[in-house]
Amino acid sequence: MALKITEECINCDVCEPVCPNQAIFMGEQIYEINPNLCTECVGHFEIPQCVDICPIDCIPKDEKYVETNDQLYQKYLQLSKKESK
Ligand code: SF4
Ligand code: SF4
Repeated sequence: MALKITEECINCDVCEPVCPNQAIFMGEQIYEINPNLCTECVGHFEIPQCVDICPIDCIPKDEKYVETNDQLYQKYLQLSKKESK
């Protein structure tokens, strides 16, 4: 399941650089997560790095993008392939 950033985000900028998949970007008002790139950090880290670092805890799971751990791992493998091209 991809994660999402809620409107409580204070644009503190600390999550964007810690994402191993470059899934976090500045949207129109607040930071956003590209669900196609977010693997919940599966393949890179044990826990989601953005959630770990966010000072106000505004990054829940996005129920619109239900994925199993295995699917997240497959996504990670696909993204790694693209990166190495
Ligand atoms: Fe990036 Fe990991 Fe956060 Fe997903 S959970 S947005 S991959 S840091
Ligand atoms: Fe927003 Fe949290 Fe990211 Fe800071 S760490 S920019 S508050 S989502």
